[in-house]
Amino acid sequence: MSFENLSRDQIQTLLDEQRAHYRELQDSGLKLDLTRGKPSPEQLDLSLPLLALPGDDFTDSHGTDTRNYGGLNGLPELREIFAPILQVPLEQIVAGDNASLAMMHDNLVFSLLHGTVDSPRPWVAEESVKFICPVPGYDRHFALTEEYGIEMIPVDLLADGPDMNAVRALVEDPTVKGMWLVPTYGNPSGAVVSEAVAAELAGLETAAPDFRIFWDNAYAVHHLTDEQTKTADIIGLCAASDHPHRAITFASTSKITFAGSGVCFLASSPDNVAWYLKHLGKRTIGPDKVNQLRHARFLQDTEGVMALMTRHRQILAPKFEQVVTILRERLASYAVAEWTEPKGGYFVSLDVVDGTASRVIELAREAGVAMTPAGAAFPYGHDPRDRNIRIAPSYPSSAELATAIEVLATCVLLAAAEQSLA
Ligand code: PLP
Repeated sequence: MSFENLSRDQIQTLLDEQRAHYRELQDSGLKLDLTRGKPSPEQLDLSLPLLALPGDDFTDSHGTDTRNYGGLNGLPELREIFAPILQVPLEQIVAGDNASLAMMHDNLVFSLLHGTVDSPRPWVAEESVKFICPVPGYDRHFALTEEYGIEMIPVDLLADGPDMNAVRALVEDPTVKGMWLVPTYGNPSGAVVSEAVAAELAGLETAAPDFRIFWDNAYAVHHLTDEQTKTADIIGLCAASDHPHRAITFASTSKITFAGSGVCFLASSPDNVAWYLKHLGKRTIGPDKVNQLRHARFLQDTEGVMALMTRHRQILAPKFEQVVTILRERLASYAVAEWTEPKGGYFVSLDVVDGTASRVIELAREAGVAMTPAGAAFPYGHDPRDRNIRIAPSYPSSAELATAIEVLATCVLLAAAEQSLA
């Protein structure tokens, strides 16, 4: 990407103009934050009735007093609501507390310390353990993997899933034990893993007998358009390919109800669920069933989840539109950036001129706009081309968002012009 059709003088003029505009923005004393994909207060208000539930009727439909200990796999009536979304019968689902990230953490740690149902030995007893990390990806996946000394191998995430040529070669190494994947509306690119790529992943012959796909379907029902993408049924595909334990699906209501007080889910083969519960049972006597009951009563059924997601979409879609419109107006004619126009999820992924993402983020910070650090969407925080920037449009008000993207676009042009004239 470059200022393809501009002379040096024209780029200098553009730099001067953008510097003047930048100073004006800087002088306006902004304090805006586009760092994390959090629901806005308006979105959280959609689930306000949760706080009045379950009232003094705290017994579930099976007669369980939800205030007490027990019920490690979670309330059946809540699992039933999410079974069509997770594409498995409720017996193959565990409903937990407020963070699917904690379930992912436990699955990694249990695999390291105990080995999985088809591991020859605990993963820590291996010479080394490696994970395939499609990029750009979710920074917390990478932070978690790094925390436990698992080596991360980046692979490009294309529009229909990870670069399978790279994946095919990597799984020939027996120390490659697994991979991360956000199948529907990836964080941050919005990429959707196609049925064909999912089927190939399920069928791959891997050198590790216990290869795992951590299928993090955090945005399964988070559509932004009428095109309601259906996630490939990875657990079914793995079972059909004779690798029944390969995929573990994770999901949560963090961006359906309350990000801090939702419920989370794990779905996998019956053996994997039994394995997970065996180890989980040492860590806890049971989940917060009162919260699970209030969720089941509030959401009512799968249609109730979808209806709530339509209301989220009404709030979110205009914000995404706003981001894309401003980027288009400010940047399209200069060919200095490319961005995604996702059909769901929580992010827009912006690629700027190679070598300028850190500078753009620095300039934005100095003008009062906090962005996720450059490189965050890559293992070890290292974007080899220093070009990717994650935009999280959900939290700010529409007016704040417009200003923040205006600042960002100015910084993209400034950094590109600086580099071009350097
Ligand atoms: N997975 C992905 C891909 C996410 O983007 C996020 C939050 O941003 C999470 C998981 C966090 O999920 P939870 O709140 O259930 O821990």
